[in-house]
Amino acid sequence: MSALTIPFVDLYAQYLSIKTEIDEAIAGVISNSAFVRGEYVDQFEDTFAQLLGVNHCISCGNGTDALYIAMKGLGVKPGDEVITTAHSWISTSETITQAGGTVIFCDTDNSTFTISPDEILSKITDRTVGIIPVHLYGQPADMDPIMSIAQKHGLWVIEDCAQAHLARYKGQLVGTIGQIGTFSFYPGKNLGAMGDAGCLVTQDTRLANWCSLYARHGGKGYHTIEGINSRMDGLQAAILLTKLPHLPEWTRKRQALAKIYTQELNQLPGIITPYVGNNRDHVYHLYVICIKNRNGLKQYLSTQGVATSINYPKALPFYPAYAYLNHQISDFPQAAAHQEQILSLPLYPELTFEQIEYIINSIKGYLVDNPSPDLKN
Ligand SMILES: *Cc1c(COP(=O)(O)O)cnc(C)c1O
Repeated sequence: MSALTIPFVDLYAQYLSIKTEIDEAIAGVISNSAFVRGEYVDQFEDTFAQLLGVNHCISCGNGTDALYIAMKGLGVKPGDEVITTAHSWISTSETITQAGGTVIFCDTDNSTFTISPDEILSKITDRTVGIIPVHLYGQPADMDPIMSIAQKHGLWVIEDCAQAHLARYKGQLVGTIGQIGTFSFYPGKNLGAMGDAGCLVTQDTRLANWCSLYARHGGKGYHTIEGINSRMDGLQAAILLTKLPHLPEWTRKRQALAKIYTQELNQLPGIITPYVGNNRDHVYHLYVICIKNRNGLKQYLSTQGVATSINYPKALPFYPAYAYLNHQISDFPQAAAHQEQILSLPLYPELTFEQIEYIINSIKGYLVDNPSPDLKN
């Protein structure tokens, strides 16, 4: 087996595959000087809303801002508790604090890495105002029980869809189930800009209007409220509009590659491949396996030229940023166990069969010399 070098993501390969379209889109924005807001942004908002089948898409600067704006729109105020998952990127929880609320972390379920509905129930108090499930790695959280808990307790739900463009739960696109869905178009996401960009979607016209005002200084030229400045720029909108028609095909390719990984790795003792819950379409933003000696495999793959990633090295409650909450490992046993075992393998639409075969063979080679204890029970 000759050595290859396989990056964890390959944004340049994607650019090359649609270079002419992208170059034309960028040139168009420049000749129209439509740099901030403008026709491309309007068109992106309309197109994305249509794709999801929602009434409103409000573009903004990035996926973190989308979460923040959503919570301001829902009226989060000091003392309000917002429940979210222990296993995510920090945007999900830091924006709760920024919006003025209190972060309440919740453990994940053992198999899908997404928030556990039973754990949510155990964290509800009379100060709870909302829940933010994250469709982590591209797999929808278990939305039916989450929505019925929310309904019963009068809570809002924001779906953090930053990793899950076009993922479906019981056939329904994520982002359209809760009151608000938030998206990131960070370059490495399934739909990525060439810079920062994000949006939120909702069916609620009053909420959409407020969030739109708030994201743009409380009104263009006539300020009804004080807001912030969080805008998508025209170049990003044009790039996203160019990529959007390719997204279904890119998603199918991710799913096909994930299937190959799972078929080949599932039979290896010591490795747990992603479990996909019932009625969920996983869009594989990340392909994450669990293995006891995660660091050993990571190091070995790196010597073979295969870049991997850990998403994320710690569950959120165990970062110094949340030391003030004084959480123990035993507060989040699932998330704490996963943080030691997870390893993300390269997965993107442009990954070739030769590359994925090489990665799989490298993992098999490692396990021959380093048998790993079975985690499957
Ligand atoms: C990427 C990401 C975000 C934030 O998006 P940015 O556009 O980088 O601000 C939020 N939540 C999750 C789960 C993410 O993966």
